[in-house]
Amino acid sequence: MGSFKGKGIGTMGNSVDCEVIVIGAGPYGLSAASHLRALGIEVLVLGEPMRFWANEMPEGMLLRSPREASTISDPRSELTLEAYEAASGTKPAVRVARKTFVDYGRWFQAKLGSDLDRRNVAQVHREGSVFKVTLSDGAVLTGRRVVVAAGVGPFKRSPKPFSDLSHSQVSHCYDGRRFADLGKRVAVIGAGQSALESAALLREAGAAVEVIARIPTLRWIGMHKRLHQLGPISRMLYSKHDVGPIGVSRLVAYPNLIFHIPLGLKDRIRTRAVRSAGAPWLIPRLPQVKMTTGRTVLSAREISGEVQLMLDDGSERRVDHVLLGTGYRVDISKYEFLSPSLVKEVRQLDGYPDVAAGFSTSVPGLHFIGATAARKFGPLLYFVAGTEFASKELALHVSRNRTRNGVN
Ligand SMILES: Cc1cc2nc3c(=O)[nH]c(=O)nc-3n(C[C@H](O)[C@H](O)[C@H](O)COP(=O)(O)OP(=O)(O)OC[C@H]3O[C@@H](n4cnc5c(N)ncnc54)[C@H](O)[C@@H]3O)c2cc1C
Repeated sequence: MGSFKGKGIGTMGNSVDCEVIVIGAGPYGLSAASHLRALGIEVLVLGEPMRFWANEMPEGMLLRSPREASTISDPRSELTLEAYEAASGTKPAVRVARKTFVDYGRWFQAKLGSDLDRRNVAQVHREGSVFKVTLSDGAVLTGRRVVVAAGVGPFKRSPKPFSDLSHSQVSHCYDGRRFADLGKRVAVIGAGQSALESAALLREAGAAVEVIARIPTLRWIGMHKRLHQLGPISRMLYSKHDVGPIGVSRLVAYPNLIFHIPLGLKDRIRTRAVRSAGAPWLIPRLPQVKMTTGRTVLSAREISGEVQLMLDDGSERRVDHVLLGTGYRVDISKYEFLSPSLVKEVRQLDGYPDVAAGFSTSVPGLHFIGATAARKFGPLLYFVAGTEFASKELALHVSRNRTRNGVN
């Protein structure tokens, strides 16, 4: 671990430091590395393990995904959440805490061993058939393939009305800000899990909180409790990943099937599966939070040190801070480490890379896994549960295609 010393392996002619370079040491990057290595493929993961979860997710948050869908996949299913809990003496909880998940990911990485370099990637570009990866300290590594597993951090959505507010007046739910420092009156915008959970955490930290959401009424995930309690029938209706409503949940568990569905229908399935909704265990934590639904914020500006919000019913709010739970929008040009020329070469679908089998792209040797692949492989790829499919497909593809021209 630490700084990788290039080995200059001579894969198929050109000498490279490493056959596969994975950018990002989150669940997808770590899982991919474990599967690639199991097939004898030399791999190097770049980045601080679990940095997004450790530094940018709200303190005190609980995973929305059920325990059985919160394991990072490894080829032998030895590095499960349960294995971590047993090894570390962590008491299994029904809801996995963010801290437990971060520690679990770091344990997973430690078990993987040496194929990690904590340095950040500053830039990636292509030179002939290899990729040059420049690290934050200026060092340059070369790789035959690059797998982008860099998550959704740069894709945060910040609606236009809030664009004139300063950093002290507006932030995103996963900006890594301490909720206790945001002020006494906070407006939370949005009605998804991160907005509602942030509202609960803010209230518990002593703030007066109002949730303002466009949808007419709040939605809660899994409210058909009885349908989840019918044993084998429930298993026919819902997959263990619990992504999406009845029926859709089963379909999205098969990303290879989703891949073959026409894009328009696939988009409808994806948006339905991940539409704004909160986990029902948040309900008892929210009675003291004011809920304003069916309303849009038209403008936000600073007046005498306060934030003034004007809503579409003509009403006004004065708050200390606005917290955006407005989700994210994938746009790979926002990955600053991808050179503009490389981004241009990647065939895209509205900001998503047009990934094909093995998460390959129109640029030979460049792969994208995780949320960026969800447009083609469906919403499972937004979640940790998708690591199993992604890592297996990626590793098999790399393994099958490495002996021909080096890449495909
Ligand atoms: C608020 C919120 C709640 C969520 N809750 C759940 C949940 O309960 N269950 C679930 O399954 N999923 C949940 N998700 C989705 C979750 O983000 C993914 O499941 C998971 O983190 C995806 O893993 P990843 O490796 O693709 O991305 P990440 O976990 O974001 O990891 C990517 C890593 O790449 C690193 N990186 C980025 N750029 C560089 C660079 N230039 N150089 C080096 N490293 C870099 C980042 O720092 C980051 O650590 C949630 C997401 C959000 C935003």
